[in-house]
Amino acid sequence: MSSSTAASAASRATELRRLLNHAAHAYYVLDAPEMEDPVYDRLYRELLELEQAHPELIAPDSPTQRVGGAPAQGFQSVRHRIGLLSLDNAFNTEDLEAWYARLLKVLDREPAEGRPIPALPMVGELKIDGNALALSYEHGVLVRAATRGDGEQGEEITANVRTIGSVPLRLQLEHPPEWMEVRGEAFIPDGTFAAINAEREARGEALFANPRNACAGTLRQLDPKVVAARRLDFFAYTLHLPPGWPTSGADAQLPTSQWESLQWLQAAGFKVNPNAELLPDLAAVEAFFERWDSGRRQLDYATDGVVVKLNDLQLQDAAGFTQKAPRWAIALKYPAEEAPSKLLRLACQVGRTGVVTPVAEFEPVPLAGTSVSRATLHNADRLVELDLHAGDTIVVRKAGEIIPEVVRVLAELRPAGARRLELPHTCPECSSELVREEGEAATRCVNSSCPAILRGALRHWVSKGALDVDGLGSKLIEQLVDRGLVGSIADLYRLDGALLASLERMGQKSADNLVAALEASKAQPWHRQLYGLGIHHVGEVNAKALAKAFPSAAELATAATETPELITAVYGIGGEIAQSLQQWFATPANQALLGELERLGFSLASSEEELAVAAERASGASSALNGQTFVLTGTLPSLSRSEAKALIEAAGGKVSGSVSKKTSYVVAGEEAGSKLSKAESLGVTVLDEAGLKALLTAA
Ligand code: NAD
Repeated sequence: MSSSTAASAASRATELRRLLNHAAHAYYVLDAPEMEDPVYDRLYRELLELEQAHPELIAPDSPTQRVGGAPAQGFQSVRHRIGLLSLDNAFNTEDLEAWYARLLKVLDREPAEGRPIPALPMVGELKIDGNALALSYEHGVLVRAATRGDGEQGEEITANVRTIGSVPLRLQLEHPPEWMEVRGEAFIPDGTFAAINAEREARGEALFANPRNACAGTLRQLDPKVVAARRLDFFAYTLHLPPGWPTSGADAQLPTSQWESLQWLQAAGFKVNPNAELLPDLAAVEAFFERWDSGRRQLDYATDGVVVKLNDLQLQDAAGFTQKAPRWAIALKYPAEEAPSKLLRLACQVGRTGVVTPVAEFEPVPLAGTSVSRATLHNADRLVELDLHAGDTIVVRKAGEIIPEVVRVLAELRPAGARRLELPHTCPECSSELVREEGEAATRCVNSSCPAILRGALRHWVSKGALDVDGLGSKLIEQLVDRGLVGSIADLYRLDGALLASLERMGQKSADNLVAALEASKAQPWHRQLYGLGIHHVGEVNAKALAKAFPSAAELATAATETPELITAVYGIGGEIAQSLQQWFATPANQALLGELERLGFSLASSEEELAVAAERASGASSALNGQTFVLTGTLPSLSRSEAKALIEAAGGKVSGSVSKKTSYVVAGEEAGSKLSKAESLGVTVLDEAGLKALLTAA
């Protein structure tokens, strides 16, 4: 190792230690976290890995060497009879398998070469995201309750814990032991948490970040009446009995496993989480973990993973502890939706309307089950707000289907002398000066022949809701533009099969198919052509309304440039759209494009058939779906989303994005999501594609 690597490892470890200790104080002592948990976890892991690689960097004040935080002021500090530890974390199945391999090694049970891995029964429990409590019973009576504190000493909060209904004050045992220690998790159910925060908001007090912090804050209330009003709950999960006990009596069945301990605790009067399971091997553990990833969303309390514990208590004893955690247990955490990462580059994307979007490119991080390395920064204002500098450590969020975004910057980890990042003044694609209009958030490239704008315009023209041309993907568009083969939408229709076939990854057959698909697209209805032109503010819905009111491009152009009041008279169309249409139709390049499209065979007008349907509808003959609201979810076998929507609207119905009691029908296809379950729970009628078609025919 070079001395510069060692020096940089040492300075990084110092930075991480400082940052994590600061965060831990805010979290454990002040109950007001200043960092997202997954961000803390990842930085903690980085420090742990640094310390493993360079053991000389381990310092006594490192958070890796300590459990929790120091006991807070205001409560008496008590020494635990038996120390309370934390748990080691696993974030994926490899971590889990590594833990199991280490466990087998400590227990001297490693398989011989080529032999199967021995299966040790384990208990899977949910990891309740609350606060550990140590309860001391003497002769069956609760005498003391304490927080975990630093694991050796906690805060004495007996009066507060006595208000928790699920903590027995006296055990249901005929012959209780002289002393007994129980550990478990105090927590606040989600509904109660929401009510507490609503009350605090009404009183103008700071809100709790999550149920775990609310619970910690409540347990440290000085007035037990306040604690009682907050209705905490408690699940017991660990039992310690005096060595050698019992000698006789009905309670004499000493548990020999974690599973039996849970049953023993339940029989003694504790509430035990009902979702624990005895798991025969690692495969069963993985299945348990996966099952609860979705199952936990139905629970009314927060969980952030599962805890896996070796079942046999004798084996637990043999495995023992590290300084911080038992070797016989591991917390397997669910994928994070937030994580820190190192910024590598600020890139800029130019969209089809010329809007320049800053994009952060960073070291890949796993988020919500995928690897993420790019996230949008939206616009120049956001860039300033984040105060992004080169080499910054950023917090990135991606939840489920949501587009990744940069949430904030960890300025504490900024390299010294780092340069502040700004949007460039010129377009990264065509080098022309970028423009930002007064009062607009967007910065734009206004060069209409900028290749990025052209590529975007072409992608939009051939997209599903517009001309819906199959076989013309982004890569091909890029080739066509970069080689100068296509300079406008109209040029697409002048491409011949032989030329297309000569391009990368194109055969004669796909080239011919593409030419045919382009030819067929000329017959798409007028409203799709209008939408395809990509006029600012004219989305699918507005295009439809405008095409209905102005059945040809010529009529729309005249109204847009001469009588804008006719445009704003269309239901749902406002001044902003009218202005954008006016600008578009007044631009000579756009007029030329319309002329070329017409010469190429586009009607740029509604067909006779469309006009007849519209006339019939206007007379009220086919508005049987008037006032009915539809929600579409999943993939239908033959209709695309936009086709189904157009058919429903043509019959007078409305399509909405979310299900409520007022929804008339939910049309569900394959892989329908939460909208379908919501419809079922609200009793909304669910149709498949055939059902929708039947309804439309009847209408
Ligand atoms: P932990 O919460 O990761 O795991 C240990 C705890 O799990 C136990 O003490 C116990 O309270 C709890 N637990 C829940 N269900 C359990 C079960 N069935 N069996 C056994 N234990 C169970 O570890 P920790 O030491 O309490 O806290 C570390 C975590 O706290 C970090 O992972 C981090 O997410 C969070 N933290 C966040 C910040 C911050 O700034 N956001 C700071 C410090 C710590």
